[in-house]
Amino acid sequence: MKILIVGGVAGGATTAARLRRNDENCEIVMFERGKYISYANCGLPYYIGGTIQEREKLFVQTPEAFGKRFNIDIRIMSEVTAIDPEKKEVRVKNLETGNIYQEQFDKLVLSPGAEPLRPNLPGIKSEGIFTLRNVNDTDQIKEFIESRKPKKAVVVGAGFIGLEMAENLHKLGMQVTIVEMAEQVMTPLDYSMASLVHQHLKTKNVEFYLKDGVSRFEKTESKLSIMLMSGRKIESELIILSIGVRPENQLAQNGGLTIGESGGIFVNEHLQTSHPDIYAVGDAIEFTNPITGKRGITYLAGSANKQGRIAADNIIFGNTHLYKGSISTAIAKVFDLTVASAGVSGRTLKKEQIPYISSITHSSSHAGYYPNAIPMTIKIVFSPENGRLFGAQVVGYEGVDKRLDLLATVIKNNGTVYDLTEIEHAYAPPYSSAKDPVNIAGFVAENILKGKVKIATWRNLINYQQNDFILVDVRTHDEFQLGTIEGAINIPLDDIRQRLNEFPKNKKILIFCGVGLRGYLACRILNQLGFEDVYNLSGGYKTYEFAVQKQSNEDIYENNYIGIEDHIYQGHQPIKDTQPKTVTELDACGLQCPGPIMKLKSAFEEATPKQIIRVSATDPAFGKDVQAWCKVTGNKLIEIQLLGGKVIATVQKEITQQNTKQVIPANGKTLIVFSDDLDKALASFVIANGASAMGKKVTMFFTFWGLNIIKKQIKPHVNRNLIAKLFDFMLPSNSTKLTLSKMNMLGMGSKMMRSIMLKKNIDSLENLMLQAKENGIEMIACNMSMEVMGISKEELLDHVSIGGVASYLERAEEANVNLFV
Ligand code: FAD
Repeated sequence: MKILIVGGVAGGATTAARLRRNDENCEIVMFERGKYISYANCGLPYYIGGTIQEREKLFVQTPEAFGKRFNIDIRIMSEVTAIDPEKKEVRVKNLETGNIYQEQFDKLVLSPGAEPLRPNLPGIKSEGIFTLRNVNDTDQIKEFIESRKPKKAVVVGAGFIGLEMAENLHKLGMQVTIVEMAEQVMTPLDYSMASLVHQHLKTKNVEFYLKDGVSRFEKTESKLSIMLMSGRKIESELIILSIGVRPENQLAQNGGLTIGESGGIFVNEHLQTSHPDIYAVGDAIEFTNPITGKRGITYLAGSANKQGRIAADNIIFGNTHLYKGSISTAIAKVFDLTVASAGVSGRTLKKEQIPYISSITHSSSHAGYYPNAIPMTIKIVFSPENGRLFGAQVVGYEGVDKRLDLLATVIKNNGTVYDLTEIEHAYAPPYSSAKDPVNIAGFVAENILKGKVKIATWRNLINYQQNDFILVDVRTHDEFQLGTIEGAINIPLDDIRQRLNEFPKNKKILIFCGVGLRGYLACRILNQLGFEDVYNLSGGYKTYEFAVQKQSNEDIYENNYIGIEDHIYQGHQPIKDTQPKTVTELDACGLQCPGPIMKLKSAFEEATPKQIIRVSATDPAFGKDVQAWCKVTGNKLIEIQLLGGKVIATVQKEITQQNTKQVIPANGKTLIVFSDDLDKALASFVIANGASAMGKKVTMFFTFWGLNIIKKQIKPHVNRNLIAKLFDFMLPSNSTKLTLSKMNMLGMGSKMMRSIMLKKNIDSLENLMLQAKENGIEMIACNMSMEVMGISKEELLDHVSIGGVASYLERAEEANVNLFV
């Protein structure tokens, strides 16, 4: 039997080797149009970044060694250009000599892979723009980096490969910007899980734009720029396009083979194409998803390898081996995080109208009392009918891979959440807990299915109307003080039985705690005491907080720096005090919120004034908590560092009396900007810039009509209700449309004013606003007014933060001038 194989990497090489192991006598010819076979595509980003140092390590096999070991005729630089299924013949072009010839087959295997998308955008052919698929691309990128030494790189597309590239270019010392059109990175994840990745990227000094696509590229002699759909321009020297791939289906299509609805080569469960003697495997095939029942393509090395083995068995032994489809089990390292998924996401289930329940749990990588336990987050989606596990996503630092593999095994075997409760894992304190995070995910899901608890998601919470329910934070008073969900009242878990009269019987009661466990206990108490409409917030405050924060961080490389608490500031980073100091170390690793704060609090009770304590915690929320705690208690936060999943905060005891709020000398200036008259807006920014120039801390609080001044000129599309549409229609759409409070004369007045200002060389309102941004003037938009007027935060300038009256009052406390304009 003569078997031809098209493609010599993951699927092709595996098929070839298995064929030979199955049959010593068949004739096997493998065609590969590139120079290399059986290389490690998955390692390419790490070779570019220097983690894999030797190029040879990328080659699992050379054509010579592979050909000899398996007695296979390997023809590199040979492209199969046509298939004639009837004559059972292919046409081959030798790319070195140009020679074209035919080759007969008894069986043919197609494993041509998938090619990266390169949309036909203006400027896309410019030098410095690359895609990454194979060794050739890798060599070109590596050569470009070594010869040009780029300082700025942009990665377009934030899928698994895009993020791996971002990390590797960052490792080489480049300023990396990621541009992603979707609202999140890594689409196999649901938004709440992707938000963990977003917040992590922010701590890594990587700039990223979400909900923004590339409209064109511009190349001048020295610069390469990307123009985004929002109108933004990013300058770069190196661009990696990683916006997706498409199956290489042309050869099959031209040969008359059936192509499926998603563009992949159609195969049956024996991996046979529409012609019985032609098989196909890998990234180019389309197959039925075992969960949704819909046909689709899986772009993963594991699937290609497994399919190669099955196809080889079916060719040699008849169609004995069934392929059951892929559940797309995938994992990626994103800086310090590990991100993994299997099965389908909640978003896909929703799209396919498959009923599901989702549940989020936060657990530790191993026993909390053993050093260095680090939290991980697990999201599972499952059937409300029978508990079948549809999908799982895990994000964390350690032990993510083994949890995801357990979950994937259950999904693959059509298992249920009840199976998760019974998994018998290997346990000793350094490796896990007696109840593994996977068991915990199962227990929680079982409780939901058996009606022991009703859950609400963070999305339910933001979509509810405020007066539909009462929101109860059952964490301790100290935790509540450090930050909570707006509108929540605090009834600590241990006080519930004494404060039952504060829970209404005629309203939904929405309970939340840090991660969901105390919330569950609170729900059980209330349920058993006759309260029925009680819900626990899945994933607790932690999930909510990650998901509702600002997800992207634009413009960080424009004269900006990231402050200790991960906020981005304009200007120059303050120089650190380098005087050597005695520092007391405090280990709070393994403790979950509020453990680290509690430990810090008791250490401070013992500490002497001015003593410095460096506390290490593995709870990622500690970064935010410690800032809030320092603010509330008046102690000084010197530094926060993030090292390999640990938050390390250095704090100095500033006061002699505990819990006495530090008295801040009041010399800041605050302005409440209420009006959107052009003259008043001008006056506000002139005063604000003037005060800032004199070294004062200035805060501008924009409320009601004042919000019109800080709207973007190019706004993203937002869905509005009728009232919001009306406001949008009637009000100025941005600062350039403002009118004068007097002598406006149907807009003539404001035009006159702008032209006089120009003649007299006085800065325009827009320039003044830009200066204010550059001067580091804090601009806060009033969230209550935004709600009333139906304005979303995406419509406002990116550097504007959202805050309530409390934010304003806090600034006013520190100010000695408060103006209302
Ligand atoms: P490929 O391995 O791409 O092989 C197809 C080969 O066919 C190519 O070499 C091509 O030149 C050749 N070919 C095509 N047409 C012809 C023709 N007409 N004649 C002759 N030769 C032809 N997957 C994971 O699971 N985990 C990862 O971490 C991971 N990381 C990745 C990182 C990168 C940078 C890339 C590019 C991919 C990564 N993948 C990863 C995906 C994985 O590499 C693919 O799923 C897998 O290689 C698919 O195997 P395949 O045989 O279908 O295609």
